[in-house]
Amino acid sequence: MAQPLVLAILPGDGIGEEITSPCVELVQQALAQVGEPKAVENWLEAGAGTYTKQGNALPVETIAGCRSADAILLAAMGDPAVRYPDGTEIIPQIELRFELELYAGVRPVRSVPGVKGPLADPRGEQLDFVLIRESTEGLFASVGKGSRDDDQASDTQVVTRKGTKRVCDFAFKLAQQRKKDGYVGEVTSVDKANVFKSMAFWRDMFDEVSQGYPDISKRYGYVDAVAMEMVRRPWIYDVMVTENMYGDILSDLGAGLVGGLGMAPSADIGDDHAVFQPCHGSAPDIAGTGKANPTAMFLSGAMMLEWLAIEKDHAPYAEAAKVLRLAVDDAFRDGKLVSTERGGDAGVAEISTAVRTCLTALE
Ligand code: ATP
Repeated sequence: MAQPLVLAILPGDGIGEEITSPCVELVQQALAQVGEPKAVENWLEAGAGTYTKQGNALPVETIAGCRSADAILLAAMGDPAVRYPDGTEIIPQIELRFELELYAGVRPVRSVPGVKGPLADPRGEQLDFVLIRESTEGLFASVGKGSRDDDQASDTQVVTRKGTKRVCDFAFKLAQQRKKDGYVGEVTSVDKANVFKSMAFWRDMFDEVSQGYPDISKRYGYVDAVAMEMVRRPWIYDVMVTENMYGDILSDLGAGLVGGLGMAPSADIGDDHAVFQPCHGSAPDIAGTGKANPTAMFLSGAMMLEWLAIEKDHAPYAEAAKVLRLAVDDAFRDGKLVSTERGGDAGVAEISTAVRTCLTALE
């Protein structure tokens, strides 16, 4: 048995506050079921609500708590009604990526059995690919900078050798790991190398990195064409790697393919820290109604346990991840549990109860 894990938990704003507790309870239950001690929970403040209260959306104590934790579980942050004086929204979750150098945004696009996607082709019900979004530079390097006067505004995209190579390396390593589990072993560079200097540079870096992975094949796609292919035949992809803004957009498209934002988990991983959070935002339009789908949060919890198993070289965490993910699949498998975002009536309470019951049944 390992030492208890220390988890930094940031519920944030809106539906984030509703989906966090059930997720933490499931993570604790999964750990207990594989014989692990209860994780230490360090609940921390950040977000638009924190900004309103303290004038700072990401307090130093929160950053310190994140740094000292084994992993960080974050729900959702932001509120369109709360803005900085320049009109931009409060986005501490993105500041945290820069602060902790979480350069690899991992966005799995995996169909959950029983949750119908929008595609008519049956292959659209069995998707299982991963989009890696560079998370510390690209167009987002301009956040909080940029320029604006009466006649024009500009934001600059920054693509560095270091930033691109490390994220491409991450993508190739992931493809290698997946290949061991029977996936094809291929990485697609999603860029716009035919138009932008920064993207031609990106592709050169991708090519350089690919030389270190002769066992993994590579493919290229321009971001506009990839958006089309992700709708036409997304099953052709294994691992994709792309610039920050393109990844922001394509990961929402990926979420749409597997039933909506409420089904899409994610991780932002660096060399020393990692944050796990659903792809969606704080959904202020449904906050407080209980209608949110907490599944993306639960699957993010499973991703966290899986990452911890590798980081700590401790197989029981992988087992805990597996049972939690299986409990989610089992809850939806017969197609009767339908979230409100997909026209059903299951919200936070119903989905949490269903997953908890399935998890208990796996004991
Ligand atoms: P951000 O930019 O912070 O990612 P966003 O502007 O993309 O946020 P979201 O908060 O993700 O917006 O919400 C987009 C839409 O999806 C909203 O209509 C919201 O109600 C819905 N939505 C998001 N997450 C969920 C969820 N977990 N369950 C149900 N509906 C959701």
